Order: sequence, then C-alpha cells, then structure tokens
Amino acid sequence: AGVVAIVGRANVGKSTIFNRMVGERISIVEDVAGVTRDRIYAKASWLTKEFSVIDTGGIELENASFTTQIKMQAEIAIEEADVIVFVVNGREGITKEDEYVARLLQKSRKPIILVVNKIDDNQFRDYIYEFYALGVGDPIPVSGSHGIGIGDLLDQIINQLDLQDEETNEDEISFSIIGRPNVGKSSLTNAILGEERVIVSNIEGTTRDAIDTPFVKDGQKYRVVDTAGMRKKGKVYENIEKYSILRALTSIEKSDVILVVIDGETGIREQDKHVAGYAHEAGKGVVIVYNKWDLVDKDEKTMQKKQKEIYEQFKYLDYARIVFTSAKTGQRVDQIFPLIQESYENSRKRVQTSVLNDVLVDAQLMNPTTTFNGGRLKIFYANQVAVCPPTFVLFSNDPQYLHFSYKRYLENRLREAFGFEGTPIHIICRKRD
Ligand code: GDP
Repeated sequence: AGVVAIVGRANVGKSTIFNRMVGERISIVEDVAGVTRDRIYAKASWLTKEFSVIDTGGIELENASFTTQIKMQAEIAIEEADVIVFVVNGREGITKEDEYVARLLQKSRKPIILVVNKIDDNQFRDYIYEFYALGVGDPIPVSGSHGIGIGDLLDQIINQLDLQDEETNEDEISFSIIGRPNVGKSSLTNAILGEERVIVSNIEGTTRDAIDTPFVKDGQKYRVVDTAGMRKKGKVYENIEKYSILRALTSIEKSDVILVVIDGETGIREQDKHVAGYAHEAGKGVVIVYNKWDLVDKDEKTMQKKQKEIYEQFKYLDYARIVFTSAKTGQRVDQIFPLIQESYENSRKRVQTSVLNDVLVDAQLMNPTTTFNGGRLKIFYANQVAVCPPTFVLFSNDPQYLHFSYKRYLENRLREAFGFEGTPIHIICRKRD
C-alpha cells in the first residue's frame, strides 16, 4: 500500500499520465463529490504491488491565481503522498512555475520523481537534461499520450514504496479515525492518546508524515494515522469536499484498521454511510465507534437497540464490532484497543487449505446449491489466495451459477468456522481449467 500524488503546473499532462498509471481501473468507492468521476483518485497496481494515485490537478480552488492553485496542489501532495510525481513539459523547458513547484517540493522530505513529459520519440530525448537544474533529481522521460516510459516510472514508484515498506514496523498496528465533522474524532484521538500512552518520537529522516502518532499500549505498538486535530487548521482548501474525501481515502489506504466514528447525539446520517462505505470498500479491518454515549438517553435496552439499528443502516458492515464510547468521560475508550487488535489479527489470518475445504464440503452438504442461471454450481476445491482482507478462490464448474445469496451463505460459514470478526472477506469464484 502507498499513496502517490501527481503534481505540476497546468497542461503538462498530469491527467494523461494518471490515466496511463491507473489504466481502466476506476476507484471502487462511489462517486461522491466527483472524486472518481473526475478521475482524481484511483487504485493502481504494478508488479505485485497495489497503491493509490491522486491527480492533484483535479482539485481546484475557485477564482484562485495560478500560483495559489499550484501551491495548494503541492501542499496536498506533500501532506497526503508517500511518493510525489512531479510532471514538467519537455517541449517547453523549465518555466517559472516549474521552479516554484520544485522549491515547494524540496522543502518536504517526501521522495520526488521528476517526470519529463511529451518526449514522444528519441529526437526529443536530449531535452530532458536541462531539467536537472530543478534540483529534484534525475529527470525521467515519458510520453503520456504515447504511453512511453510509463513502465520505468512505475518501477521507480515501486522502488520508493518498497524502501518505505522496509522502514515500517512489522509489529505495529496502524489505524485511522474517520467520520463526518464533529462526531468527536479529535476528542477520541486525545482520549486514546491519553495518560497511559507512551509516545514514541518520530524518527528523524523517515518519510512518514509527522501527523502520524505512534504509541505503545499494553505492550502493543500502534500508530494513529493522520491524527485528527493535529493538522494546522485554517488552510483554505480544508473545506473543499473533494479534499476531505481524498484525505479520508488516503488515511484508509495507510491504515490496517479503520475506526468509523458515529455521533450518538445526532444518530446515523447519510454522510456516515459514505464514510463507512469507504472503509468497507478498502477491505481493511473496521471497528464502529458510537461516540457521545454520555449524551444518549438510555435504559438497559438502548445499547441493543442501537446495535440493531447500526447493522440495519450499514448492512455490509455486519462483521464490524461496535463500541459505545464517550470521548468526553473516557467511557469504554479502553475497549477500543482489543477490538483493533482482533480486527488486525483476523484481517491477516491464513487458514489451512484442508480445513477450508472441509468447511466448504460441510457447508454444501448442509445447504446444497440449487439451479441458478441455467445451471447448478459445483465447487471442486478452494484456496485462500491473500490476506488483508482474507481472500478465497472457489474453483467451480461455472461461476455464473453462483447466486449472491449462496455466496453470502458460504461467507457466513467461513466466518463461523474461522472467526473473521472485524474484517471483510472476499470470495472469488472461478472456473476450473
Ligand atoms: P471532530 O470534528 O470529529 O474531530 O469532532 P471534535 O472532537 O472536535 O468534537 C466535536 C464536539 O463534540 C466538541 O465540542 C467535543 O467537545 C464534543 N464531543 C466529542 N466527543 C464527545 C463525547 O463523547 N461526549 C460529549 N458530550 N461531547 C463530545
């Protein structure tokens, strides 16, 4: 996982390069505020690695000057990305705006890949050398419109992301706290990072954002990603809806587990469903935190009722545990940690192939498949092919005979057998060759 941001002045070819990098894949999240319609955020993969790409050119300030615009885009790249792809136009040489962007980027410690676009064939190759003067490293030639050099660019991105993965702490659980404004994300962060925390200082020279807060709790290392409320407030673009969605998406991308916070005082709102949807779609572990519990009128049945209501509203999140907290009084804040741990462990659980197949044979004996789409599904065998989330491939006579309700049934059987609380699981049905 990792986040790559593309920056550069207008018309250098950012979106062409973005499209080349992500191919036909569009983001799986629904199209809220044009984030996917405008194609400014998408998942990409190269070799065995998956990452997400932001085209900062798609985030615009109304009535802003070129410099204000590009400054904002560079800032967003610096804040959100693990690797920055800086695009210039090889046919025009260095412009004042390119120099401005270079200076902004140099101030960050994020790795920068300098891409010289519009090098459509070898006759333009020598044009790249003057860009050394920008002082942001070796220029690499590409042609977005012809699709030349994109592989080299992706190789370099993967190299950088691999380097950063080596730095990450294997036994550390990273999580982010997401939710609509005012649900209590900052208050909860403060409550979580309360007295018992042992803050581990950010190590100088690492590329990780200083906004991540590492700490240790009961011997377990954690990292709060994109710690709410710790950012400098008051940037003009904080209020752009696209930007706040991007921020939620990038925090999710960088986390193992997502805490979806709901305001108990107002109850569930439409926007909560979007937020919960992002978390679910990302395939990460999820814990639902129903906050401001101190403000809820309650008797001994309220918690059960709320629980039922939450699962009704977020049907797809039926695997997520719910904890009813008050960030204000600290009530049950401590109960969040074991849930994060459970979610994390289950999301990386691997099950034995033989046991998996036994469970599926039993499931089919108890509830045989029926005819659907003109045929009856036969499952020959299954394999777990991935973790985060646990992903199972069923080899069958024909995947089109798999009814979604039967898929759901199999998912439930796997959950019962192996315990996947707190994590989504994916089931893929293929035809056996
Ligand atoms: P954020 O925008 O999600 O970060 O929300 P904040 O943490 O800034 O909280 C918004 C408001 O709700 C503030 O006035 C908080 O004091 C209040 N708040 C947050 N959590 C709780 C809680 O558990 N109980 C009560 N009573 N108020 C809370």
